[in-house]
Amino acid sequence: MSFKPANAIQDLQYFGEFGGVNPSISDSSTYTFLSAKTMFDTFEGNAEGCYLYSRHSSPSNLYLGEALAAMAGTETANVCASGMGAITATLMQLCKSDEHIVCSRTIYGGTYAFLKNFTPRYNIATSFVHITNLSEVEAAITPSTKVLYCEVVSNPLLEVADINALSQLAKKHNLTLVVDNTFSPLSITPAKLGADVIIHSLTKFINGSSDTVGGVICSTQEFINSLRDVNDGASMLLGATMDSLRAASILKNLRTLHIRIKQHSHNALFLAQKFEQDGLKAVYPGLKSHPGHIAFKEMMNPAYGFGGLLTLDVGSLEKANELMELFQEKNLGYLAVSLGFYKTLFSAPGSSTSSEIPLEEQTAMGLSDGLIRFSIGLDEDIERTYVMMRDCMKQVGIL
Ligand SMILES: *Cc1c(COP(=O)(O)O)cnc(C)c1O
Repeated sequence: MSFKPANAIQDLQYFGEFGGVNPSISDSSTYTFLSAKTMFDTFEGNAEGCYLYSRHSSPSNLYLGEALAAMAGTETANVCASGMGAITATLMQLCKSDEHIVCSRTIYGGTYAFLKNFTPRYNIATSFVHITNLSEVEAAITPSTKVLYCEVVSNPLLEVADINALSQLAKKHNLTLVVDNTFSPLSITPAKLGADVIIHSLTKFINGSSDTVGGVICSTQEFINSLRDVNDGASMLLGATMDSLRAASILKNLRTLHIRIKQHSHNALFLAQKFEQDGLKAVYPGLKSHPGHIAFKEMMNPAYGFGGLLTLDVGSLEKANELMELFQEKNLGYLAVSLGFYKTLFSAPGSSTSSEIPLEEQTAMGLSDGLIRFSIGLDEDIERTYVMMRDCMKQVGIL
């Protein structure tokens, strides 16, 4: 039987302290001990089921972590205060001074800035490559390379990485394959394709209500233990710990993720097909014209579709701004960064979420200033949405 990530989430059975259908929320930063010896053992990480201090671990965070590990198909997971908290801790744990990272050049702006500007301070260098060109990826690997890093579906260009092939390359050169699966939760299960560490920003689809910032690292027990080590664990020492109240609320939202993803995907595919038929430059992995369409199809859990993100190149930043303002005025969505909300969100990444990437590099990677990134919402009547969007496009002269 094939792996169904949503089943894996739903098969978990957690009861609250008083038989509640939700686990009780742990609302303490510190925990008492009946014996001083147990306190010492807990600090050293040897007392199963005991808690010491909530930066180390807390019941609510562990519940959420286990549910996310079930979804990702990994042994365990560590939740973090943000997606960047997950990414930075993972990379700082895996690399030390004079080591090297090979990374896709189309990635989230914050990750790009971290690797381009921040890690060089610690003599960790990064080569940015076309992730879909495997020979270029392999040619960038040096004897000091430790990590191969990419997004499964990239932000904002929606390039699709071939995780199977990259995992073979990683194994051949003894690298850790770290992937950010924020854009394609449930649709793609990178652990089943050979990825070693899977990261999500929980801020986006997984929480889905744009009220929380969070992140997760899904991997082996061994790697997660190393991140939590009190002496040299990057999650423990850099301190991007999630708050327990937030962990409890994200866990509740996670349980409807499969329904939401199906609707996001259904709506995004509908609009992408219509836009393409209208002769617009629509990019969506579910379109046959998308260069990563076959790669996505081969990796996907078909029930969840091709995801909720699509891009549209309307030619210039001026037109993009005009259209986005009109969409917002007609209540077709919000002019806002981020993704995975019930409303459609749109922004021009060149001047917002990817503005950390220098202009000439944006141009080289095909990120034009007329590009609009859409996170398509959960609209009940997507045909009505399309008709209204088309009217706006006519009004600004794109159609
Ligand atoms: C938003 C995002 C991040 C960063 O997550 P935060 O929760 O904002 O720290 C990382 N990767 C991708 C692909 C994202 O979209």
